[in-house]
Amino acid sequence: MAKVTVPSDLQAEQYQISPDYVRISMAAAIELGLKPGRINRCNCNCINLLQNYPEGCYANCTYCGLARERPGTPEENTFIRVAWPLYPTDLVAEKIAEREANGGVGRVCISQVQDHRAYDDLVDMIRRVKRPAPQVPMSALVSATTLNEERLHVIKEAGVDIIGVGLDAVTEELFEETRGKGTKGPHNWEYHWRIVRAARDIYGPMKVNCHIIVGLGETDRELVDMFFQLKEEQSQVIFSRSTPNLARSCRISLALPFIGCDAFNSSSI
Ligand code: SF4
Repeated sequence: MAKVTVPSDLQAEQYQISPDYVRISMAAAIELGLKPGRINRCNCNCINLLQNYPEGCYANCTYCGLARERPGTPEENTFIRVAWPLYPTDLVAEKIAEREANGGVGRVCISQVQDHRAYDDLVDMIRRVKRPAPQVPMSALVSATTLNEERLHVIKEAGVDIIGVGLDAVTEELFEETRGKGTKGPHNWEYHWRIVRAARDIYGPMKVNCHIIVGLGETDRELVDMFFQLKEEQSQVIFSRSTPNLARSCRISLALPFIGCDAFNSSSI
């Protein structure tokens, strides 16, 4: 990537960065009237926001468009390889409040990246949204590496009731290879689980979503075992696909209803 040479304490003068600015999914920008267009076949009314820093993300996950060593400049890269336009956070908060007053927003989710400013800025951004729209439900998709138990409490007090944690890989080996030591990235499997379990204790059962990616090199059995483990840990699974193999993704999603059924265990599938 193109190296950002401006020191971080001077970046706010030269770049539009968080907490004053936020990226917003194209669908959410349309929902809030910030972009022209119409969304078909989606009634969830969820607004997804993403922190923005010139370097993208300090972590180096092999599959991510924001990773530290990805090719290209930060402006050329996006979170999930689709456009996420940038707006002032206070404008987005105002639009959310307007929408909330006219029929409601389903939920607002703020995604953190790995950056030394990301925790303080997350709390600031939650408060900026809650101030004009106190009733709106809020989630935070956190970077576990930036957090500890005390910070999880502060995020809850600021107004978040659901925490998302990107585990992404379903085994320690794959995690280290795609997100941890193997990438010279900061993430650690054990620490991610510490945060998942602490969040489960602080936010309550099924209030923690663990994000899993299908297609990082795991087997179907490893995925299913993780789904059962998360059920035992009273956490939910959200999974996305990095494989072009649509049939495999469909097969895996067919297993999910069985995970919730008490008559089944890991060896039943
Ligand atoms: S921590 Fe998240 S945003 Fe950062 S590189 Fe990894 S997947 Fe991408």
